[in-house]
Amino acid sequence: MIDIEYLRNFCATPDDPRSYLHEPFNYYGHTYCTDGDVMVRIAKDDRIKKRCLKKKVRDVIKKLFSGLVVDESRFTVISTLPIRHKICKYCDREGCEKCDNLVYFLDLRRVHIGAADISNEYANKIAALPNCQVMLPTENDKPIYFRFDGGDGFLMPMIPFIDTFANTKKEGE
Ligand SMILES: [Zn+2]
Repeated sequence: MIDIEYLRNFCATPDDPRSYLHEPFNYYGHTYCTDGDVMVRIAKDDRIKKRCLKKKVRDVIKKLFSGLVVDESRFTVISTLPIRHKICKYCDREGCEKCDNLVYFLDLRRVHIGAADISNEYANKIAALPNCQVMLPTENDKPIYFRFDGGDGFLMPMIPFIDTFANTKKEGE
């Protein structure tokens, strides 16, 4: 069974102002971890401290899972893409505000999956879940369902504005 400590990777980071997403939480027989872009759930872990859940969060969960139609023919292994580091050009390797004193930026790229694009950061994270399979999306702006040994979840695709912009430009030529 997947360990809850590992799933904490899917919670929002401490610098995220949405403190209610910083820790796993329980809701109707499951334990959830989410940062607002990705959500994973496993069978309820009773070690998780009971706390009051925002209505907004409950509504999102209800909507996601009640609208889910599982199509067994569309499950596939998720593609991954290593994340490269780009050296910060705003500072001379001394650290600055722009790079959060890291001296580099994460060079996030898109991974195509069905009709949608997801960031390689999330693709890699999800692919590391045991036997993870993703249900190929047929649209580019809807949450993408995935499942793994011991749980399942949803991931938001990247907004396809870059492609749209490119397409618009082409049409205007
Ligand atoms: Zn810098």
